[in-house]
Amino acid sequence: MHPLSITLIGEVKSPKAYFIRDFLQRNGFAFQWIEVTTDAEARQYAGLDSRSDPRFPVLALKDRTLYAPTLPDIVAALDLSVGPQLPEYDLAIYGAGPAGLSAAVYGASEGLRTILVERFSIGGQAGSTSRIENYLGFPEGISGADLASRAREQAIRLGAEILLAAEGVGGSIEQGKMIGVLDNGKTVTSRATICATGVEYIRLNVLNEKRFLGRGLYYGAGSSEANLCRDHVFVVGGGNSAGQAALHMASRVPKVTMLVRGNSLKDTLSQYLVDRIRLSPNIEVRTRCSLVAVDGDQTLERITYRDLECDEEIEEETSWLFVCIGGRPRTEWTEADMLARDSAGYILTGSDLLNGPSGAPWPLQRNPYPMETSLPGVFAAGDIRSNSIKRCATAVGEQLFLSRITFWPMRHRFSSESLRLRRTS
Ligand SMILES: Cc1cc2nc3c(=O)[nH]c(=O)nc-3n(C[C@H](O)[C@H](O)[C@H](O)COP(=O)(O)OP(=O)(O)OC[C@H]3O[C@@H](n4cnc5c(N)ncnc54)[C@H](O)[C@@H]3O)c2cc1C
Repeated sequence: MHPLSITLIGEVKSPKAYFIRDFLQRNGFAFQWIEVTTDAEARQYAGLDSRSDPRFPVLALKDRTLYAPTLPDIVAALDLSVGPQLPEYDLAIYGAGPAGLSAAVYGASEGLRTILVERFSIGGQAGSTSRIENYLGFPEGISGADLASRAREQAIRLGAEILLAAEGVGGSIEQGKMIGVLDNGKTVTSRATICATGVEYIRLNVLNEKRFLGRGLYYGAGSSEANLCRDHVFVVGGGNSAGQAALHMASRVPKVTMLVRGNSLKDTLSQYLVDRIRLSPNIEVRTRCSLVAVDGDQTLERITYRDLECDEEIEEETSWLFVCIGGRPRTEWTEADMLARDSAGYILTGSDLLNGPSGAPWPLQRNPYPMETSLPGVFAAGDIRSNSIKRCATAVGEQLFLSRITFWPMRHRFSSESLRLRRTS
């Protein structure tokens, strides 16, 4: 945890306040949250006359106060994006989920000049989960934020540089070096790159979804919101992430209802979660259901779902809806034909590249290394990789393999290959 004194003041169902809460919590910043429900409280806590003043939320730091700050404002105030500090790195990693953090640990420990670039917060999907129970060495489970925070400490201690709130938005290969372009206009030059950008949540695609995002409707397990929930919570989804969200919420609110599209939780959920959900008296599971609408005035007030069994629409009142219906690969930073992908958009690597993927064929005489993409010297790891098992342990373990086969020869080999690639393409 960072030893900073931070207070955030605002309304609970404010999307901006949610965004900042989520950012602070997932990046391991200790902060005090003050909820404002009346104009008197707005005056008392923030010195603003009305609780609907557009200058909310207010972020009070030790030495300054920020009104309705954007992510770049916060990043600057917390001194988070000072790098890249070196003109060139051996290894640049994009995405600080378990895969990226682990690559940073192993890359730096092999003596490589390593930089890890993360668009939002460390931990990725894992950082949003309240408890990971199947990770080796933590018999009681560990919160994703805690695991991520330990990994960050380890990576930094071993010499990796971490750039937070910086997004990779493009890249090129010039004179054998990879130039990553960040959203803040800066560039990162490296001899090799690991893409560990994971997946993003699949959206509901229902009417009004955008209107209630952060105002009662949340994607993911809601680790930053759980303490604020007070009444009946609905969780959409039947996978492990939805199961964990339901269990986490159930320890805080009187009732949790899971809306599951399939016939039973057993088909999609790990057995230990099925067992724990069965033993939770305040979790109700409704199967064969599909959410069709969200509604309310300023904030979420009700949802409608279709009972697929009897083809009926059912309306329920709730002001808390958490959606965990899976992910899709996050590859918007790369042009469609730059890297070979499978039909679902996941990046193809290693021997999969030799099996005739469409577009971006493997360009060199030698075979690709395991986890190497169709662009020599660019690797993919974790959930973004085609055919990977979507789990923390896999995302982390893959880097060990990478370190054995690629980190050592990386310094010389890829630069010359990249030159060849440029000449022939
Ligand atoms: C709620 C939930 C609970 C889960 N529980 C478990 C569990 O108990 N056990 C288990 O093994 N697995 C669990 N999983 C799955 C596990 O979290 C994932 O398999 C794992 O996080 C994948 O790691 P990753 O590093 O590949 O990708 P991610 O975790 O998706 O991380 C990718 C990172 O890349 C960043 N990024 C994306 N694009 C860019 C860009 N252009 N530039 C810079 N950064 C970028 C993202 O912001 C993100 O931080 C859970 C997942 C969820 C959602």
